[in-house]
Amino acid sequence: MKTIRNLLLASFALLAAAAAFAAKPIPGPKGGKIVTSEAPHVEFFVEKDRTVTVSFYDKDLKSVAPAGQVVSAVAEAKTGKVNLAFTAKDGALVSSAPLPEGDGYRIVVQVRDSAQAKPKNYRLEFHDEVCGECKRAEYACVCEEHDEKAGEHKH
Ligand SMILES: [Zn+2]
Repeated sequence: MKTIRNLLLASFALLAAAAAFAAKPIPGPKGGKIVTSEAPHVEFFVEKDRTVTVSFYDKDLKSVAPAGQVVSAVAEAKTGKVNLAFTAKDGALVSSAPLPEGDGYRIVVQVRDSAQAKPKNYRLEFHDEVCGECKRAEYACVCEEHDEKAGEHKH
C-alpha cells in the first residue's frame, strides 16, 4: 500500500509542476510578448522607433519565416484608435506605422493564417516602462505575479 501512496503523491507533484509550467508566460526571443499559448507562436515586439515587429516561432521557439499570414493591429490609444497594417520584412512582419503616443492602452492583434482564414484576436496592454524584475518592457513582462485576468499591473 505504501508504494501506491507514494506513486499517487508523485503523480500529484507532476501534475502541479505541469500546471505551473503552463501558467508561466513565455519570454519572447526578441524581448517582446508571446501572445499565443500554443505553437506556432506569435511574438509582438515594439521596436525603439515604436514600430511593431510580429515574429513567428515553432514550439521550441525557433524562428519561422511568415508563410502567408495576414496580421493587423488596432491600438486603442487615448487619442483614438489607430489601425496598423503589416508587411513582410527580414523574416517577420513589420508595421507600416509606429504606435500612437503614450502607453497604458490596449492593442488588439489580429492574425490570419492565410488571407482566407478566420482571424484570431490577441489582446495585450501596452506599457512602455521597463519591469524592474525581469528587465523586459512591461507589456512583455514574464514575472509570474501579474494578474492577467484583472488586466492590471501592480508595479
Ligand atoms: Zn517583469
